[in-house]
Amino acid sequence: MAPVVRVAIRVEGIVQGVGFRPFVYSLATRLGLAGLVGNDVDGVFAEAEGPPAAVREFLGALQRDAPPLARVERVTATAKAPIGTATFAIVASDPAGRRSTLIAADTATCADCLRELAHPADRRFQYPFINCTNCGPRFTIIRDVPYDRPLTTMAGFPMCDPCAAEYHDPGNRRFHAQPTCCPACGPRLTLLDRTGKPLSDPALDEAAALLRRGAIVAVKGLGGYHLAADATCEPAVAALRARKHRADKPFAVMTSDLAAVAQLCRVSAAEAALLTSQARPVVLLTRLPGAAVASSAAPGNRQLGVMLPYTPLHHMLLAAASRPLVLTSGNVSDEPIAYRDEDALERLGEIADAFVVHDRAIHIRTDDSVARAFAGRPMLVRRSRGYVPEPMTVRGGFARPVLACGAELKNTFCLAKDRYAFVSHHIGDLENAETLRSFAEGIAHFSRLFDIAPQVVAHDLHPEYLSTKYAVELDGVDLVGVQHHHAHIASCLADNGADGPVIGVAFDGTGYGTDGTIWGGEFLIADVAGFARGGHLATVRMPGGAAAIRQPWRMAAAHLHEAGLDVAGLGVVRRNAARWDAIVSMVRRQVNAPLTSSAGRLFDAIAAILDVRDEISYEGQAAIELEQRADPAEGGAYRAGIESGAPFRANGSDLIAAAVGDLMAGVPTELIAARFHHGMAILILDGCVLLRERHGLNTVALSGGVFQNLLLLGSTVTRLEAHGFTVLTHSRVPCNDAGISLGQAVVAAAGQRGPAVSSEPGLWAAKATAQFQQMRGSGSPTSRSTIRVPPNAVFSRTIPG
Ligand SMILES: [Zn+2]
Ligand SMILES: [Zn+2]
Repeated sequence: MAPVVRVAIRVEGIVQGVGFRPFVYSLATRLGLAGLVGNDVDGVFAEAEGPPAAVREFLGALQRDAPPLARVERVTATAKAPIGTATFAIVASDPAGRRSTLIAADTATCADCLRELAHPADRRFQYPFINCTNCGPRFTIIRDVPYDRPLTTMAGFPMCDPCAAEYHDPGNRRFHAQPTCCPACGPRLTLLDRTGKPLSDPALDEAAALLRRGAIVAVKGLGGYHLAADATCEPAVAALRARKHRADKPFAVMTSDLAAVAQLCRVSAAEAALLTSQARPVVLLTRLPGAAVASSAAPGNRQLGVMLPYTPLHHMLLAAASRPLVLTSGNVSDEPIAYRDEDALERLGEIADAFVVHDRAIHIRTDDSVARAFAGRPMLVRRSRGYVPEPMTVRGGFARPVLACGAELKNTFCLAKDRYAFVSHHIGDLENAETLRSFAEGIAHFSRLFDIAPQVVAHDLHPEYLSTKYAVELDGVDLVGVQHHHAHIASCLADNGADGPVIGVAFDGTGYGTDGTIWGGEFLIADVAGFARGGHLATVRMPGGAAAIRQPWRMAAAHLHEAGLDVAGLGVVRRNAARWDAIVSMVRRQVNAPLTSSAGRLFDAIAAILDVRDEISYEGQAAIELEQRADPAEGGAYRAGIESGAPFRANGSDLIAAAVGDLMAGVPTELIAARFHHGMAILILDGCVLLRERHGLNTVALSGGVFQNLLLLGSTVTRLEAHGFTVLTHSRVPCNDAGISLGQAVVAAAGQRGPAVSSEPGLWAAKATAQFQQMRGSGSPTSRSTIRVPPNAVFSRTIPG
């Protein structure tokens, strides 16, 4: 008789809710193996018994042939004594013990389900909640782990007999698909009027008819409510903008398929891959001239954010409407997106003419993700629905469980332990009670799902951030204060699986410096454990503090004063003549005018000087519109001088002076805007060359919200690479403040591991090392008492850039 072996197997990774057990079952059956498979809090466990060759093949295939949504992190096998069973069985889940399983993100409807959706003979024909093992809701419906129907928002929908038969049939593609349902047993759609009164059946046809007539319809999606309008109808989109109180910020558009996108925008191969990926983010694309989209959809913008349908409901709605739809988050102005039905009816009743609702609850609010392609690879701008809660695997790992509370704007938090960092969904700007509640509830939810009780809590140095206040009020944890721009660079390092040291260029709007000034144009010598300030943009005054962020013309006044320019003929001076002298006087007298090295404010100043924008209605607006204004064909560049102290100072005012000179000489603003962008890129290059000479570092990490500007990013990367630098940019984690939490977590973990060890002796200049030690204190975490408020710092809590 041939020898028989038995092994006990553990599979870790994203292996629940992705069809892993049926995959194991059919694999074992095909190989003639006996044994069992089941879910527990650690992932999937299995035992397999049979001839050694078949068991070996089984173990290899577990990783190699795993189902599409699975992410197998590790397979371990231990030998056991054979027990002589003849069959292979799927056993019940074991909810006991320590939890460390991973959970899949929500996933776009798969091709098999779309075929059934369109097939008149199928029992789920035109059923807007069709899903299977390979697609459908996950993160947004999970209340707790292990991932089983009773612990999801599908608990209230007992399966009918045909659904139960599919669910229990190992050969069926809905075997153990927890959200399995059909028209007989699953959720239902209803169309309501704005007061909540039911309107008609079938809901989607009537909703589409309303949309075609120019109405605004609230649609309950996967992670929250959207507001929909006919994207080709200017009055409808303008009405949506007015009712939502959203002045200029672009709306996203959903089209039925890739061919429909190509009628509106230029689509590269990388962009097409992003659009059709399982995550289905909103992808920022370049609009075609004359594209049939209402001008209010994305005013003043050459780009358009487009996404493809990701739920069966969306597929059906787009087909019925037979035109692109604006699909923007269901909220008023900057509130969080509505996701509970009663709340949506109350908050959106003044905006929407009708509501498409259903009775499957959304457990956790999750906004659409936003991405673009840069140099052929994805670059996430907002990482949320479709990506969260997949973890990032971090080099070095986390010796103790960490909570990182993130920044104030575009907040995410991050919980981390072992090898994994779980960066949260988009929470939003932490400036109202509702967002703060989302933040606190989200932390509690992640802590439960992933069984992470943080012992180390990382936070920004800004004492007024609500995320900082949340952190310092926690008891029984070690607090670690992480400088904002260091967190940006650490986030970029983690995104690239690197530890540093690098030259970190962190350009953004506002971040709390260690010297009482507002930082934002920083050249750091940094690794994941610490940093020294190698250089920065020369500081200027921010007249009126936060008011200067909302009113870029104030920054123009400050920069023009700094550059010593006599400017009476400029449009920005004429337009703001009534207040100009008062603002310049604030700068001169240094009253209510804190110092900043912010790159974002320099972009603001140029935007105002070039008559692009004097006041903004959303974060980063002036810089975004300046990028749009620039002529992409122009290669000329202004030059900025560098004062080579330590840290060095780069004179942004030189760029201002050159731009004003061109403007007075009648050079078109399109050319000036381009020359300014390339001037910033050369300024960055010059700073990096200087730091390479001083520190021997040849790798540059680019982070901070300013690098969402692709004209600047492209120009910078090209120049750095031409000068022999290795350049790290963001891809999986946003370069804006949404990436801060990951950076904080990584820095906190590195501090717990001990000081960074440099492989190259003499790398750190004496001054840099001293500053580095000072930053890190004695190696112990920042205590509550060391969080200081510099007396002259003024920070915006409203619209920082
Ligand atoms: Zn499917
Ligand atoms: Zn059913």
